[in-house]
Amino acid sequence: MDRKGKIIILSAPSGSGKSTIINALIGDPGLRLQFSISATSRAPRGQEQNGREYYFLTPEEFRLRVESGDFVEYEEVYAGTCYGTLYSEVERVTGSGHNLIMDVDVKGGVNIKKKFGREALSIFIMPPDIEALEARLRGRATDSEDKIAERLAKADYEMTFAPQFDACVVNDSLHEAVTEVRRLILQFINS
Ligand code: ADP
Ligand code: 5GP
Repeated sequence: MDRKGKIIILSAPSGSGKSTIINALIGDPGLRLQFSISATSRAPRGQEQNGREYYFLTPEEFRLRVESGDFVEYEEVYAGTCYGTLYSEVERVTGSGHNLIMDVDVKGGVNIKKKFGREALSIFIMPPDIEALEARLRGRATDSEDKIAERLAKADYEMTFAPQFDACVVNDSLHEAVTEVRRLILQFINS
């Protein structure tokens, strides 16, 4: 299908800086980006609102939508908690002429790229090292010690997925990482 907008995928271990980079670029008029709102079976945290950060579904609703074939992909990213991208979301955003930017886990990133091929650009955001990742997870202060340990334990494994992405950007200096991701997106949407 010939879409009006293109698809940009950002994946990385949790805490690498995906959301920060997306937030820095989302209002950039040259990129025409819109954030892809995923569905999740977890409950809202803090100020999160249904239809803004995520479409919050009960585990049962999530399961029924999987059975109906509504998902481009979904993963059980954390034990007992699923996240997935709905076909309706891809159509909603790309159909309006915007480029869809996704924040998905590394397996989701690889699967979405396989599905959309040249219509999608996949970028892996690499933390400088595990120590920096740990410091960022703690500094973000949104996760319990258990969750931080779970996310760090997964990070080494997740980093082995980097070669399967179109590009890999190290997020050491935030400014340099944002500049490089912006350059890659511009090159892709103008190609
Ligand atoms: P992700 O979306 O990949 O889970 P976040 O964007 O939430 O990660 O970033 C995790 C934490 O690290 C946040 O507190 C953020 O402000 C911080 N951070 C992001 N990029 C950098 C950077 N280049 N240098 C230092 N801290 C950073
Ligand atoms: P949380 O928002 O609970 O902190 O963590 C979200 C995690 O799930 C991140 O690693 C994010 O990249 C991933 N994620 C969010 N949406 C999707 C999705 O639609 N598909 C997949 N595979 N992962 C997702």
